[in-house]
Order: sequence, then structure tokens, then C-alpha cells
Amino acid sequence: MRFAFRTFGRGTHPPANKFTADSPLVRLDVPEKLYLPLSQHIGAPAVPVVSVGDSVAAGQLVGESGGKVSARVHSPVSGRVEGIVSRPTASGGKCAHIVIVPDGEGRRVSMPVLGQPSPEEVKERVREAGIVGMGGAGFPTHVKLSPAKKPEFFLVNGAECEPYITCDCRLMTERAKEVVRGARLLAYAAGADKALIGVESNKKEAYAAILAECVGDDLGVSVQAALLRTKYPQGAEKQLVFALTGRRVPPGGLPADVGCVVDNVHTAYAVCRAADFGEPLTERALTVGGREAGRPGNYFVAIGTPFSFVREMTRGEKSDDDLVKIINGGPMMGIAQSGLDASVGKTTSSLLFFGEKEAALQEPTQCINCGRCIRCCPMKLSPRDIERAALEKDTERLEELYVQSCMECGVCSYVCPAKRPLVHAIRLAKKTLRERGGGK
Ligand code: SF4
Ligand code: SF4
Repeated sequence: MRFAFRTFGRGTHPPANKFTADSPLVRLDVPEKLYLPLSQHIGAPAVPVVSVGDSVAAGQLVGESGGKVSARVHSPVSGRVEGIVSRPTASGGKCAHIVIVPDGEGRRVSMPVLGQPSPEEVKERVREAGIVGMGGAGFPTHVKLSPAKKPEFFLVNGAECEPYITCDCRLMTERAKEVVRGARLLAYAAGADKALIGVESNKKEAYAAILAECVGDDLGVSVQAALLRTKYPQGAEKQLVFALTGRRVPPGGLPADVGCVVDNVHTAYAVCRAADFGEPLTERALTVGGREAGRPGNYFVAIGTPFSFVREMTRGEKSDDDLVKIINGGPMMGIAQSGLDASVGKTTSSLLFFGEKEAALQEPTQCINCGRCIRCCPMKLSPRDIERAALEKDTERLEELYVQSCMECGVCSYVCPAKRPLVHAIRLAKKTLRERGGGK
């Protein structure tokens, strides 16, 4: 009998290329200077609360939330504030960064450990610790913990469906206890009685480790693990909700509309560290991969570490002359970098270094109307028609085609035999609609 893993409709199966799945997490050195972005989350940038010349301890608050939807920033090291400068971010823009020069003195401050916290105390701790969605979205987690109505499920995303990336897999394997504890605390704070951790079927060791920790109902929350079919984009929010609960988030709706809150396994880990160890979010696990990475693997990296330093430490015998493409994130949804000036932020899950072969872009040819992009789109959109409407700047048609429901997962571009740049066209179409003030 074939075991049916939980999954969603449509999607695709890119080669997983999880070459670093067995590489244990190791801590990367701290660079000579850290550049802490004040905008590494959705919402208002953080506001500096230190001045040039100040001494700071590891764990000290250096940026206060800039609004209701915002997140705090803390120093990962003890050192001195050298400046507050504008620098490139990994998402392509620029923002203010606090520059910290480590002094090697190891001064550290931490928050008191929470003993038997109330849900409100957990929420407040999550806010104090500057925790955001670490799977890529960067939404401030404390805001998510106050849904309009009591959720039934807190879903924790351990799918890690993007090719190459393996840091969540290692975190679940090596730190399962903390991940499960964090999932429990998150569910408790949000008011859900059940937490479900979804793990893709190609991560058997991680699944077994998580399953072994899912015992008891401490805080009145039962935590369960579920195996998901390995398929892209299994970790997308709406697809995960359907796979784990069978509920469909309505178009334009949120998981909360069907009684769910979703967060990522790394976020759960960070919540446990903040509540049980008093640590604010100052480092994260990330994968270094791609054929041009000399020392591929999974690393704990201090927030604010420049990408150039990560490259330096993991280049090994490889030459930068053979580097054709650098991606922050996975190859399906990640952001190509024009250089290595940006710094590691709370949402930096990987840095991929590709040579000619992996980066090869095929020239687009005429659409052959095969319909593959339509058959595979997990949101049941018609990417072929959206591209046509985008090229014709037909905004009315774009709205009829629900272009705003596209989550830019990249499936359509990936499966297109004509290599049409569909996601690029969709991004432009969404931008046009936004500027015009429209969109469903
Ligand atoms: S149209 Fe959007 S949601 Fe559909 S496959 Fe393409 S990128 Fe993904
Ligand atoms: S997959 Fe490509 S070639 Fe096929 S219908 Fe879509 S855009 Fe056209």
C-alpha cells in the first residue's frame, strides 16, 4: 500500500539539490564590522536608540520598533557603534544600518527567563526579542499572535520546499526540542490548542527528531508532526494550510479566516530561545550552497554579517571569477544579488553561489500554448494570459485574471518549455496595478 502524504493540488517537482542536508550547523566567525539593517522586516523601519561612539553589549537593544507593525533590532556582539549609514539591502533597495565594531570583550545582556508565562507574557517576549517570520516573509511575529478570533491550529512550516536550502532541516534535526517548545509557545500565545509541524517527506531524519519531541500537552497545547509530500511550493502559506487541515483560504483571504495561524520552524526556535533562555534574535541559521561555494554547509551567522564576509569564509578553493549568479534565498523565489554588499538579516535563509551551468538562462521563445503554466499554477491562475495582458498593459484584463493572487512562486516560469519570463511579467503587472490603485 502506498502511504499518501499530505499535499495540495498542482505545483511542480524541481530537482531538490539538497546537497548540504547532512552538513551539521556550525557557527561562522564574527566579522570585523557588523552592519545591522534597521529594516529587515515588513512594516516601519526600526529607530536607532544608540549613538555613534556608544559601547554596546551583546543582546542590547540598538533599534526600537518604528510602529505597530515593526520589529526591534539588537546587537549580536559587544562592541562600539561606529556609525549609522545607508547601505544596500538583500531585497534590492537601501536602508539605514547600524555599524558595530566588535571589541571581543564578550559583554552580554539577556532578558529574564520566563518560568510559567501567560499568553500575554509570551507575546510581549516575542515583541521584546524582535522576532519576525524567518521563512522569508519577515512579518513581525507578535502582531500575528493577536488574531481577530481564536484560531484552532497553529501551523509550523518545516517544508523547506525551495531547492538547495537545508538550514531548517538541520535546525529540526539538531534542535528539535527547541523547535517543538517554540511551536507550543506560539500556539499558546495565539490561543490555539493544537500546533501542527509540517515536514516534507525528503527530511525523514528531521521528521523523526520532531516526532520524538511531540509529547505531552504542556501549556494546554498538543503538538503534532505531519509528513508532507515533497512538492514545490509545499511551504507556501495557503498550500500548507490546505495540506495540513484540508481548509481552503479564500482568494484575498488569510489563514486566520479558516482558523489557522502559520509560522516557520526557525521562528519557533527563536521563540523558544527568547522565552526559555532570555535571548533576543541576533543570529540565524543559513545555508551556503551552489557549485561555486567552496565550503557549502549550514551555518549560524550573526545578523549584520556582510555577505562578502560569508563568501570569504566559505569560498574555499573556489574563484570569484567563476561566479555567475549569487542568490539570496532559493532558486525559485530568491533574489539575485548584484554584489555582496548586503548583510545577513533575520530572513536570510541562504546564499547560493552559482557558476555558468547552474545559472544558465535559456533565451525565451514564442509561447506554444501548451497550457503547462496553467495546469501547474498552485493558485489556479492563467500565467500565459496574464503575461499577454501585461505586455498589452490591459489593466482591466489583469484584474479579471486575479493577478494580485499570484504569490510569485516561480512555478509557471520553471515549467514553461518556451522559457517565457512569466513571473517577471506578473511582477510588473502587479506594480502597474498598485500604482494605479487597483487590483483584486
Ligand atoms: S502565476 Fe504566480 S502563483 Fe501561479 S505559478 Fe506563476 S508565480 Fe506561481
Ligand atoms: S507554459 Fe509557456 S509555452 Fe506553455 S502556455 Fe504557458 S507560457 Fe505558453
